[in-house]
Amino acid sequence: MADIEAFDFQIARIISIIRDTNAKIVGLQFPEGFKRRATGITREIEEETNAQILISGNPCFGACDVDVDLACKVDILFHFGHAVLDDSNYVKNVYFIEVRSNAEVEKVVEKSLEMLKGQRIGLITTVQHVHKLQEASEILRSHGKACVIAKGDAKIAYSGQVLGCNFSSARAEQCDEYLYIGSGYFHPMGVALSTGKRVLIADPFVNEVRELDISKVLKQRSAVIGKSLDANLFGIIVCSKPGQERMTLALKLQDMIRKHGKSARIIMMDLVTPDQLLQFKVEAFVNTACPRLAIDEVGRFNAPMLTPPELEIVLGEKKWEDLAFDEITA
Ligand code: SF4
Repeated sequence: MADIEAFDFQIARIISIIRDTNAKIVGLQFPEGFKRRATGITREIEEETNAQILISGNPCFGACDVDVDLACKVDILFHFGHAVLDDSNYVKNVYFIEVRSNAEVEKVVEKSLEMLKGQRIGLITTVQHVHKLQEASEILRSHGKACVIAKGDAKIAYSGQVLGCNFSSARAEQCDEYLYIGSGYFHPMGVALSTGKRVLIADPFVNEVRELDISKVLKQRSAVIGKSLDANLFGIIVCSKPGQERMTLALKLQDMIRKHGKSARIIMMDLVTPDQLLQFKVEAFVNTACPRLAIDEVGRFNAPMLTPPELEIVLGEKKWEDLAFDEITA
């Protein structure tokens, strides 16, 4: 995790919104990596306003995961760290505070030139660094590269931005390979699996450029598919969080499983964890909740956890070569 001081939490803007709306009770919701700033930010807001602050203690993994219960109990809720999703409009009193990183990208982008092989480079990142893509593009162009910062679908707020469940901006325009600006492996891995192209990670926090290797995750997915081939009873997970709920897909998958003479039960839940699923006796799960779960928690469930595209391979509806990354697109 990057130095937390390198992020801008927009405190002055938050104070001004509270004053302008005359909010008396204010909720704050932080993703896991920013929770340790919660009490300090609360103090800063309390010093400048008379609002009563309530901090959400629930897990928070994305813009899909607004604390709706808290939003109903406060005048306004500030949800930190994510850009708004198109379908988040259902909660009217929520302000999305995009926490931008102050990390400089110049050095790491220059460093990437030694490793970039293609001519037309797709630039991608998360919302934390999206304001740096233009600068990255200018650096690469000054060294003779062509750059693409493409617009994603309606769930994606900024050109070049990717989510862990949506790589539409990477697929939107042709390029030879991708340069991902940020730390972590999940987003670039999704881009590699969704496009089939080479991805370099330019990490501005440690000034390091790494080439992504997806062979390990492909082996893991292959093992999960292999273990599910003889399954006759499936548990289809549906998440009740509004931004993750895919009941229509779950019903379609249940029909497909039944057409193959097998059984499927739909399990609806809020927080999906290996412990929460421990008591369900099925031979394989199919996850329609956050696509990261099946990948990040691989091997931790009491039965193989498939993604919807992997289920189609298990049932023989698609071939292994057709394996696609699970995405929640607009
Ligand atoms: Fe992120 Fe998962 Fe939510 Fe998509 S569903 S926005 S990957 S937490």
